[in-house]
Amino acid sequence: MKTHIILLGPPGAGKGTQGQLIGEKLNIPFISSGDALREEFGGNTEIAEKFKKYINAGLLVPDDVVEEFIETLLDKYNLEKGFIFDGFPRTVHQAGFIMDYLKAKNIPLDVVLYLSIPDEEVVKRISGRRICPKCGAVYNIYFNPPKNDNLCDKCGAKLVQRDDDKENVVEKRIKVYEKETAPLIEFFKEKQLLKEIDAVGSVESVQYRIQEVLNG
Ligand code: AMP
Repeated sequence: MKTHIILLGPPGAGKGTQGQLIGEKLNIPFISSGDALREEFGGNTEIAEKFKKYINAGLLVPDDVVEEFIETLLDKYNLEKGFIFDGFPRTVHQAGFIMDYLKAKNIPLDVVLYLSIPDEEVVKRISGRRICPKCGAVYNIYFNPPKNDNLCDKCGAKLVQRDDDKENVVEKRIKVYEKETAPLIEFFKEKQLLKEIDAVGSVESVQYRIQEVLNG
């Protein structure tokens, strides 16, 4: 069973949704750099304002800053039995950093799951996305709506749309993904760690495909 996992894929591919499910099923920590950054910089301090600017504009937070942030974040977890990373690494530089971090701690990386979806699907998925600001659960008003109108099934909080999910920012995020993050597909393929998952379909069917790869 593969339990040391990185999720890769364009915005809207379902990394958060699938990652949370895997984390619950395998009882391993699901760690999302985007969630952690939003939480950390959700306040009104000067530094929060600076980082919100990158996030809300659909740009990446610079590598040196984000790597320091991720190192502090990862140090809080016990990663020995497994982990599932969502949202990082996001650049080739960050990938090198993560590989070094794991190696230094003697922690393996079993697989990189590349969730692939066609471009035209991305915008549709992101525009319908709503998140729970309290527990991080992810919904889609078209494909995976909450049971009660705009309220989180898990904790009852009112769902919100991320500022960077608004249409003009989405295009920028897709461009940034293609330039900065897509090269990681080759990076991990060369290391024979990459498994491509067809991420089109229901949450359950994609989850099934992932489980097959993890069990294999
Ligand atoms: P996400 O929730 O993964 O889509 O991340 C939302 C935003 O947070 C991104 O558009 C970036 O601005 C920032 N972010 C998250 N993870 C990273 C990362 N590994 N490197 C740089 N910026 C990041």
